[in-house]
Parts: sequence; C-alpha cells; structure tokens
Amino acid sequence: MSKKIQAIRGMNDLLPKDSALWLSLEKTIFDLFISYGYQNIRTPIVEKTDTFCRAIGEATDIVEKEMYSWTESSGESLSLRPEGTAGCVRMMIEHNLPREGIQKVFYQGAMFRHERPQKGRYRQFHQIGLEIFGATNAKVDAELMMMTHALWQVLGLKNIVLEINTLGSSEARVVYRKILVAYFNQHKDRLDEDSLRRLKTNPLRILDTKNEAMHSLINNAPKLINCLDKESTQHFEQFKTYLDALGITYVVNTRLVRGLDYYSRTVFEWTTTDLGAQGTICAGGRYDGLVEKMGGTPTPAVGLAIGLERLVLLLEAQNLIITDSALSIYLVALGEKAQIKSMQIASALHDALPDAILYNDLTLGSFKSQFKKADKSKAHFALILGEEELSNNQVSIKPLKGQGEQQTMDLEEAVKYFKESK
Ligand code: ATP
Ligand code: MG
Repeated sequence: MSKKIQAIRGMNDLLPKDSALWLSLEKTIFDLFISYGYQNIRTPIVEKTDTFCRAIGEATDIVEKEMYSWTESSGESLSLRPEGTAGCVRMMIEHNLPREGIQKVFYQGAMFRHERPQKGRYRQFHQIGLEIFGATNAKVDAELMMMTHALWQVLGLKNIVLEINTLGSSEARVVYRKILVAYFNQHKDRLDEDSLRRLKTNPLRILDTKNEAMHSLINNAPKLINCLDKESTQHFEQFKTYLDALGITYVVNTRLVRGLDYYSRTVFEWTTTDLGAQGTICAGGRYDGLVEKMGGTPTPAVGLAIGLERLVLLLEAQNLIITDSALSIYLVALGEKAQIKSMQIASALHDALPDAILYNDLTLGSFKSQFKKADKSKAHFALILGEEELSNNQVSIKPLKGQGEQQTMDLEEAVKYFKESK
C-alpha cells in the first residue's frame, strides 16, 4: 500500500472552519492600512538567491540556514522568499518608484524558512508587512506604531508590549562592534557555540540570543545606546516623544538588535508572554542604507511585518474568536419545479441582500433531510419552497435560531422581512 498522502512538516492547510477568522483578520488589517494611505503590492514568491543574500545579510540565521534554495539548469540559484522586504526593495529599485515621491506600501503572503517546526514557528507562514520609502524622520516610525497599536485595540488584544531600541548609524555600529567584541572576548568561556561563531561573523547578533544562560552576560554588556551618533540620538528621542504624545507605552530594550542585518536606527518588536517562546507577533525597523546597498539611489526606509499565525494563536489564547455576523439563509426546495424556482429566488435575493450568505440546498433530499442540513449550516433562516408555496407564488420563512413562527409571504415581503431581521 502506498503511504498516506500528507502535507510537508511545518507547512499547514487553512481548513474551511478556520477561514472566517483568517479572512476577517486579514480584512481588518488591510482596511486599517488602506485608511492610513498605504497601497497593496505583490511581488513574486521566488527571487534570485542573491537578492535575499544582499538584502538580509550573509551572517544571519535566514541566509545561513533557513532558505529554500535550488539551482536552475542555467546555473542560477533561486529561493523561496523567507521575508518580504528584499522583494519589495528590489521592486522599488527596478521600477524606480521612490523617484515619484514617498512610497507607502503593504504586502501579504506566504514566507518560507527551514526552521524546526513548533507552536508559532512554521516552515511556511504568512506575513502582512508594511514599508515606507523616502521618509527619514521619526514621525514615520511613530506612524507605524500608531497603526499597529490601533490594530491591537480593534482586535481587542491585551498583554502586548512594545519594545524599542536604536541601532544608530552604521558608523556608530562599527565603533560599538569593537567595544562589544572586546567585552565578549574577555568572557569567551561563557559564550555558547553559536555565539562563538557570531563573535567573528556578526557579534551584535549575540545580543539577540534565545539562550537564557547567556542573558546575564548580555545584560552586563556595553550598550550601543552609549555609542550613538548625535543624529541617531535625536531621532530616537523624537520617536519616543511621538509615542508619549500618542499614549503608546513602550519599553526600551537595549538587547533588541533584530535578526536581520539591514536595520539602522529604530528597531521594535510587539511581544506577548501569552505564546511561550514564540512571543513576537510584529517586528521591524528602519533600514536607511538598504536601497543603496542593493543598487538603488539612496532612499531611507522603514517597515514592519506581522506574523499572522502568531496573531491567530494569540486571538485564540485570549478567546477573541471572531464570529461571522452576516445574515444567512438556507434555501429548502421540494420537487423539480421548486428546485428551478429556488435558484431564481436565490439569484434575486443575492441582488437584494448582497451581504447575506445564501445556501442553496444541493442534496435534493427529503424535506426532513434538507431541514437537517439547514440546521447544520447554522443559517439564521430557512426559506422554504414547497408545492403550496410554488402554486401561490410565495415563500415560507422559518427562523432556525430562537422561537419565531414560520410565515408565508411573497418574495418582496420576504426581502423586507430579512432586511428588518438584522
Ligand atoms: P524569531 O526571532 O521569532 O525567529 P524573526 O526575527 O526571525 O523572529 P522576522 O524576520 O522579524 O522574525 O519576521 C517578522 C514576524 O514574522 C515575526 O515577528 C513573527 O511573528 C513572524 N515569523 C517569523 N518567522 C516565523 C516562522 N518561522 N513561523 C511563524 N511566524 C514567523
Ligand atoms: Mg527567526
């Protein structure tokens, strides 16, 4: 016997029962972003591996071990996107968009990383991300916080903390890197294997370790905030002033350096303690040097990405199940003539009640079995078309939730009835 067919580990299906939650969540986020003046973009899921390496940086978890890459027959290496910023920057450069002024865009879709699957960590996962190109001031960074903060409120989420930090300019980081390497070299015996390697390739990333045993070493490490250039200090102060004015509370976390190489100045994470180790639901920062590094004209930029699976887990953990409130009607029809008539009625109802959900009975079973299906569909009403209704050119309506009586009326009255029932 052949092996049972199944999906790849860490790559999940969205089942019909979960789709209402996902669709409503996505719509809430899209509507919010659109209301702030952002436009949707879509980039390919596959890009040249080099595009990701240049954008994300060689000495990062993603490029070192998490990418799905392969070689084309031409010899060129391609990869599934592990994140959205690289493709977005590539698109900005290729189409010369920043030349037309400030670009405010958002994207959504599947990302792929070869990680060890666990709760909140998958090999295919979904992000909605935002990027702004061409604006350098802290007001932009603050707008991102304002929007995400508003999003948590709209969703009713609690227990989410904003952590912020600044990485300064690349010059400041060169100075800091030396100081940090000297410090870690003094305490080499306390570094784990991963950190010893990072000490040579990307020492700042040691600060980002998930190894609890190293946290005291890291808490006592020299802080980048003490090596900052004047402009970055000012930028960070302005950022905090905006947050204070907006009533958004935050924690300055000097260990926050983010996984990706491309950040400068502002970095941030929205985190929760309700999801165990995978507690970051949204993360991002400023990356003023990246567009130039990838071959474009120098363009400041800042962005963030929300991890949708983690957001869904958090909604579930906090019992914030989104229920579909749309009016729903199950159309019961008995006999061949009634089947045809009920389709005409369904078509008319779709026109008259565009927001309603209509279920045509597709079983053509007995009256009783159609009613069972109607109950199971969780529709608010059954609209019944039997022989009598058919000959009187009427329909019967039976409320399926609550105690209401069955009533018979013509279609026009039925539409009115449904509209008033909302
Ligand atoms: P982590 O430290 O948890 O690995 P990261 O720094 O690699 O996160 P980013 O690249 O900043 O994550 O991605 C932004 C967001 O996307 C994360 O905050 C998280 O919500 C989500 N995310 C990242 N990797 C995964 C994954 N493998 N599975 C599910 N969600 C993910
Ligand atoms: Mg990661």
